[in-house]
Amino acid sequence: MALIVQKYGGTSVADPDRINAVADNVAITKRRGDDVIVVVSAMGKATDNLILLADQVSKKQSGREMDMLLTTGERQTAALLTMALHERGIEAISYTGSQVGIITDTAHRKAKILEVKGDRVRESISQGKVAVIAGFQGVSTAKEITTMGRGASDLTASALAGAMNADACEIYTDVTGVFSADPRIVPRARKLAKVHFDEMLEMAGAGSKVLAMRSVEFARNHDVPLHVRSAFTWEQGTWVSNEEPSMEDPIISGVVTDMTEAKVTVLGVPDTPGVSAALFEPLADANVNVDMIVQNTSTDGTTDISFTMPMADMAESESIVQRVAESIGATSVTHNDDIAKVSLVGAGMKSSPGIAARMFRVLADNDVNIEMISTSTIRVSVIIPAGQMELAARSLHTAFGLDSGSDYSAPLPERK
Ligand code: ADP
Ligand code: ASP
Ligand code: MG
Repeated sequence: MALIVQKYGGTSVADPDRINAVADNVAITKRRGDDVIVVVSAMGKATDNLILLADQVSKKQSGREMDMLLTTGERQTAALLTMALHERGIEAISYTGSQVGIITDTAHRKAKILEVKGDRVRESISQGKVAVIAGFQGVSTAKEITTMGRGASDLTASALAGAMNADACEIYTDVTGVFSADPRIVPRARKLAKVHFDEMLEMAGAGSKVLAMRSVEFARNHDVPLHVRSAFTWEQGTWVSNEEPSMEDPIISGVVTDMTEAKVTVLGVPDTPGVSAALFEPLADANVNVDMIVQNTSTDGTTDISFTMPMADMAESESIVQRVAESIGATSVTHNDDIAKVSLVGAGMKSSPGIAARMFRVLADNDVNIEMISTSTIRVSVIIPAGQMELAARSLHTAFGLDSGSDYSAPLPERK
């Protein structure tokens, strides 16, 4: 008898029919004789809709109240799925993150897990029940309800799997696994049978949302293999684990696209020691995740600094950047939301020089202008105009030999 954690994403539980389909799958797993912990996301676009609601009543939202609001999405799914399981004669009980002792720090909307107690989950499992847990949320050391960042139901699943010593952690989503690119953008993307944690971390860090980055981090640190698979076709998916890549694996595993970042440029910054610290320290204190940074060489004693960060953090950082720009005597600040990040990721890059140069050549041949560049040992990322993202991703996918023989063929569920 195995202990299985199953996580179902928003599209997989978007309406009552989907919740019934998921309940059938949980019931099959339980009747097979396994113990099951289920983690659920909010239904469909429920989280986006709650954010829209908040935007209509408040400009500057308190993190505490936002977390009170957003956690209701997952709680709704957990209760509904539990009722659907009861309907099938399966004993089940729903819990919030707080009830199962997911203890976090106090950073509302971006909380980090400090500890997973899990006593009530253990108790329910020992009573033969399925424990259905609302993902994405915990309770802080100050006893407040917290959320752990967009997509963090994945993290709830890998954290519970680690804490409960589960035999498997299945991440059910709306595509059939992890692909060499987002199949919604590159139809010729190829399904990867397995991906090493390190590559998956780079892919998630570069903005691939198929797995939330911290869920991969947690899974790697606690050696919990993740099985990413479809809740629509139920076929075998992709294993994300510690297994070392073999010699035959391609140098590049994937092309990652990300439209969620914005670029900020501070113009006419005095070229003196301390200005970068003056700019980025307050952003760090406000928990803004600055990604790429480019500083031009100075002419006439001033320089320009550009950086990218999540669009979602824009409201918070705007006033900070404006204030710092004034205090250091910079000329002006500009924003650009119309950018995309395209990255190549592959463990083989370490031993294969020239990947970045080839990437830039492919982009040049397609008339794509590169605005910023950053690299790690197994990743090259560029910022380009948003309108050229598809062209860039598809051309790179073809040029690096990643195209599969046919287009993605499973249904791609619409996100409602
Ligand atoms: P869930 O609600 O199940 O958590 P997400 O929307 O967070 O689902 O993640 C699944 C989506 O991730 C897919 O629908 C797909 O468009 C996107 N995606 C991005 N990159 C990849 C990739 N490399 N492989 C598969 N899917 C990807
Ligand atoms: N519902 C949350 C979100 O939309 C968490 C998740 O789905 O993982 O970000
Ligand atoms: Mg997700």
